Amino acid sequence: MATECLFCRIVRREIPAGIVHETEDVIAFRDISPQAPVHVIIIPKTHVPSLDRAMDASMLGKMSLAAAEIARNKGIAEDGYRTVMNTNSAAGQTVFHIHMHLLGGRKLDWPPG
Ligand code: 5GP
Ligand code: ZN
Repeated sequence: MATECLFCRIVRREIPAGIVHETEDVIAFRDISPQAPVHVIIIPKTHVPSLDRAMDASMLGKMSLAAAEIARNKGIAEDGYRTVMNTNSAAGQTVFHIHMHLLGGRKLDWPPG
């Protein structure tokens, strides 16, 4: 657990966030700058900087299954949604605590920018 990490601070409830889902291993909250009607960030409670540094297959699976469950709960699963993990600078990663974006509630263009 990294003291200064923004998302670790959300896990510790030191910074408020619109938490929509929580399990023993993961927590999910509304993105502060939503890019779609549904834009949720799913993170593991343990600090890992990015997908490039991830070792725990179970943790990655739990993040994906949490995204799918949130999408069903928000009613966007049937229409469709997108999960995205930006990894390192060329992909635009800005917070270096591994996270998955869940985006939905509108038509999503492909390819992304
Ligand atoms: P990245 O650009 O690293 O893939 O995604 C980081 C995301 O975290 C961005 O979409 C950004 O809007 C979101 N974010 C940054 N700071 C905060 C915060 O303090 N609270 C919440 N809820 N989201 C944040
Ligand atoms: Zn962290």
